[in-house]
Amino acid sequence: MPGVTLIGDAAHLMPPSGEGANLAMFDGAELGKAIAANPGDLEAALAAHESAMFARSAAEAADAHEILEACLGDRAPFSLIDFFTGG
Ligand SMILES: Cc1cc2nc3c(=O)[nH]c(=O)nc-3n(C[C@H](O)[C@H](O)[C@H](O)COP(=O)(O)OP(=O)(O)OC[C@H]3O[C@@H](n4cnc5c(N)ncnc54)[C@H](O)[C@@H]3O)c2cc1C
Repeated sequence: MPGVTLIGDAAHLMPPSGEGANLAMFDGAELGKAIAANPGDLEAALAAHESAMFARSAAEAADAHEILEACLGDRAPFSLIDFFTGG
């Protein structure tokens, strides 16, 4: 179906890391900017938006998995202490 895209958790669900709502709002703002930058060409707008969003959210998802490992992994809670102290 033309002219359909996803943002927020629907596009990039990840473990809780304090980023999901921020990413969802950022996605919305970036989608608006992409549409404004491509007047009359919604497909180009969505393609530009998705290419940036998927790269951005993949990096955030990798960070979220690191935080999850620090919280619940084999080295917890020492890994979480290291995370906060930079150890
Ligand atoms: C315990 C917990 C703590 C979190 N803490 C943080 C935090 O500190 N900071 C942070 O940035 N993020 C946090 N998050 C993540 C954040 O809540 C989500 O990433 C964010 O809400 C995603 O927003 P969204 O609009 O994409 O999806 P959602 O907030 O899930 O909104 C989707 C909406 O669509 C509705 N819906 C679903 N199906 C249909 C349908 N068929 N028809 C109509 N409506 C439908 C749902 O009812 C819902 O209202 C946390 C999440 C959890 C679970």
